[in-house]
Amino acid sequence: MNPSRHEHTIAGSCQITGRGYWTGQTVTVEMHPAAHGSGIRMIRSDLPSRPECPANVQHREAVAMRTNLINGEARFQMVEHLMAALAGMEIDNCIVEVSGEELPGLDGSSLGYVEQLATAGLIIQAQSRKRLVIRERYRIGQPDSWVELAPSVRGESYFEYQLSFDDETPIVPQASQVDLTPDRFMREIAPARTFVTTQQAEAIRSAGVGSHVTNQDLLVIGEDGPIDNRFRFTNECARHKTLDLIGDLALSGVDIVGRVTSFRGGHRLNGEVASRIAAFVVSESSQSESIPTNRIQRTEAA
Ligand SMILES: [Zn+2]
Repeated sequence: MNPSRHEHTIAGSCQITGRGYWTGQTVTVEMHPAAHGSGIRMIRSDLPSRPECPANVQHREAVAMRTNLINGEARFQMVEHLMAALAGMEIDNCIVEVSGEELPGLDGSSLGYVEQLATAGLIIQAQSRKRLVIRERYRIGQPDSWVELAPSVRGESYFEYQLSFDDETPIVPQASQVDLTPDRFMREIAPARTFVTTQQAEAIRSAGVGSHVTNQDLLVIGEDGPIDNRFRFTNECARHKTLDLIGDLALSGVDIVGRVTSFRGGHRLNGEVASRIAAFVVSESSQSESIPTNRIQRTEAA
């Protein structure tokens, strides 16, 4: 990522249609250009009043296994793969109209969004993109699940995920690292699909959701690897968790210049990190683009 850059929007509109994992509803997501400084604005185009929710962490709704946004009637489920696509492609300002509550699962990755955004093209805008420059090492979480922010060496925006589940899982320990640029995001992170184990898939289906979701709509991982499917990368699971991390931290509304490492973190922890970053950026807005991390630290350190 360019350490100092201008904001971007898309040059034209684009759209994608698919079914939600949880609701099974077919929805269309339309992405339109937006003015500088306006951020990502989500609109429920299926509701008469077209209620709107800014895609920021203040509107994050705490739910398991996904990232939702809510602002009154404007509720959106599973926004993380869209948010990752926008952040990865450096699209800062965009109007996103969704014809239902849950965003489409597509193939479980951000690839569909990224392909549409790439086709739409990019416009460089007048305003500088807000950023958080990490000056000190800072860790949040517990010993068995944490996110660490550390200074970058060359002004890079680096994301790493270290995956290590318990002995019961067929998913082997693995890691994924990327110096985030649109090109690298598109090639290395965007195609990585979401995954569940066969046990998790059975538990979800027996709870009465996702019965329409097939083994081609995401990775269902058994003892011998993905069922009726193949990995796109040997570390596809860790890459997907990196994708989720990028999407969830994008709700902070700033670029992070630094090294972000997650050890077994999930959406809840990502949301907490995004909240702290956003709270600090709001309280200090325009004071400085260089923020010592000890000043956003309110709990345990590494
Ligand atoms: Zn995901």
